[in-house]
Amino acid sequence: MIETLEKLLLLQERDQRLQTFLREIEGVPAEKAAFERELQAAQQTLATAKERASQIEIERKRLEVEAEGKRSQIAKYRTQQFETRKNEEYAALKNEIERAEKDIIGIEDRVLELMEEAENLKPAIADAEQKFSAEKTRVTALLKSTDDKVGILQGRSEALNVERTALASEVQTLDENLFELYENLFRTKDGRAVVALEGEHCSGCHTTVTRSTVLEVEARKSIVSCEQCGRILYALEE
Ligand SMILES: [Zn+2]
Repeated sequence: MIETLEKLLLLQERDQRLQTFLREIEGVPAEKAAFERELQAAQQTLATAKERASQIEIERKRLEVEAEGKRSQIAKYRTQQFETRKNEEYAALKNEIERAEKDIIGIEDRVLELMEEAENLKPAIADAEQKFSAEKTRVTALLKSTDDKVGILQGRSEALNVERTALASEVQTLDENLFELYENLFRTKDGRAVVALEGEHCSGCHTTVTRSTVLEVEARKSIVSCEQCGRILYALEE
C-alpha cells in the first residue's frame, strides 16, 4: 500500500476514536442532569409528604381552638339560660347550645380523621426518607463516576490528539491536497473518509464502482476515490 494511504488509515483510526471520546464527553452534562432529576423526584416525594403532615398539624390545632371557642360559648349560653325568666329566650338559648354541641361533634370527628391521616403518613414519610437517602447515595456515586469517566476520556483524548497531530503533519508533508481532501471527507462523511473496497463495492456508500476503479485500487499505486461518494478507497488484504 502506498505510504500516504497507510498513514491516512492510521490518522483516521485516531480521529474516529477521538470523535467517539469527544461525543461521550459532550453527552455528560445531559447524563448528569438526568441523575439529578431522579434525585429531585425522590426529594419532592419526601417534601410533599412532610408538607401534608404539617398541614394536618396546623388544621388540627385550628380545629381544637374552634372547639374550645364553642365550648366557652356553650358555658355562656348556660349562664344566660340560668339568668333568664323568658321562656322564649330560654328555648332559643337551648337551640344555640344544641347547635354548638353538634358543631363540636363535627369538629371532633374531623380531628380524629386528621389524626388517623397523620398516623398513616408516618410510615410513608419514613419510606420516602429512606428512598431519598438511598437515592442520594446512588446519585452521588453516579455523578462521581461520571466525573471520573470524563477525566479518563479527557486524558485519552489528549494522548490521541498528540498522535493525530503527528500523523496529520506527516500526511500534510507528503501530500497537502490529499490531507485537505481527507479532512473534508472526514467532516462531511460521518467520520469515514477512507473506506475499503469490498469486491466491487465501496464500503462507504455501497455502490458498485467501475472496473477501472477496481483495478486502480488493487494496483495500490495511487490514491483512488469512489466515483459515487468521493471517499478514498483502499484494497483489502488478499
Ligand atoms: Zn462510495
